[in-house]
Amino acid sequence: MPITVVGSIAYDTVKTPFGERERMLGGAAVHFALAASFFDDVHVVGPVGDDFGEEQLAVMHRRGVDVTDIEHVAGGKTFFWQGEYGWDLNSRETLDTQLGVFEGFEPKLSDSSRSSDVLFLANIQPDLQREVRSQLPDARFVALDSMNLWIDIARDSLVAAIESVDCVILNDAELRQLTGKPNLVAAAREILSWRPSGAGRGPSVIVAKQGEYGAALITREGFFALPAYPLETVIDPTGAGDTFAGGLVGYIAAHPNEELSDELLRRAMAHATVLASFNVEEFGTERIERLAGKEVVARIQELQAMTQFSGAPLQLRG
Ligand code: AMP
Repeated sequence: MPITVVGSIAYDTVKTPFGERERMLGGAAVHFALAASFFDDVHVVGPVGDDFGEEQLAVMHRRGVDVTDIEHVAGGKTFFWQGEYGWDLNSRETLDTQLGVFEGFEPKLSDSSRSSDVLFLANIQPDLQREVRSQLPDARFVALDSMNLWIDIARDSLVAAIESVDCVILNDAELRQLTGKPNLVAAAREILSWRPSGAGRGPSVIVAKQGEYGAALITREGFFALPAYPLETVIDPTGAGDTFAGGLVGYIAAHPNEELSDELLRRAMAHATVLASFNVEEFGTERIERLAGKEVVARIQELQAMTQFSGAPLQLRG
């Protein structure tokens, strides 16, 4: 099923203990689209400024991503983000965020973007997420990501956006902050109980991203968790969450005839985990740009072997 994504298309300046890059291609929608393009057709929606070049568009083109709905705003500047990571890469400080062309952006979706069955509302102002959601009322599967900034300054709009989707993908700290519940499972259960005031289903899938510790899946039926794929060298975690989302949503989109069961979601979690693991091996989009499908398949098999154990029945004392 074709996928539409709305979110930031950015220039990122990033410093990690392993080096720094200035104004490299980034943005939540870009990282998502490159990962999801391994599974199905992807349409990207979002604005860029005069400073966004053919070279950046070509990165998406080469992976078959449809960039027709990337709007070039004359006289505008592309979204810019600058961040710096601590020595173990677990902490990140945002040094600068310039919304640029996102200020006053009114998404205008083409017929092809509107006809997608799958929609991903990547991290961006929740009002914009809701505007795009309302333009795809019949989408079969809608997922959303967000961040602490929007919980802080636009919580009501974010809650309304969450009530309009099927799947919420957030960091565990964000799930706790959003619900005010210190326990992750309780926080997820709370969000699973949210319902839109009018018609609609409300979220049925919660994914808690836990950085280098992996990710957990909480549905009404059950719980599942996977560790991150163990890498000895991590260079730049920027975009790992969006790449994870691209793997998860892309895998679901590639199975149009399957029910959204926990079994399907577990396989989707494995693909998300593996895509994200490649993303962090190099700066920005560098590694995913030259990733081959067969490398993904091989790492999926490794992850499966790593996370399996036998029943090992033993008569326990006591
Ligand atoms: P992640 O590492 O998965 O959290 O995603 C990092 C990406 O999100 C970077 O490429 C940034 O351009 C983008 N980003 C950072 N802050 C924001 C924001 N406030 N709104 C939208 N995108 C953002």
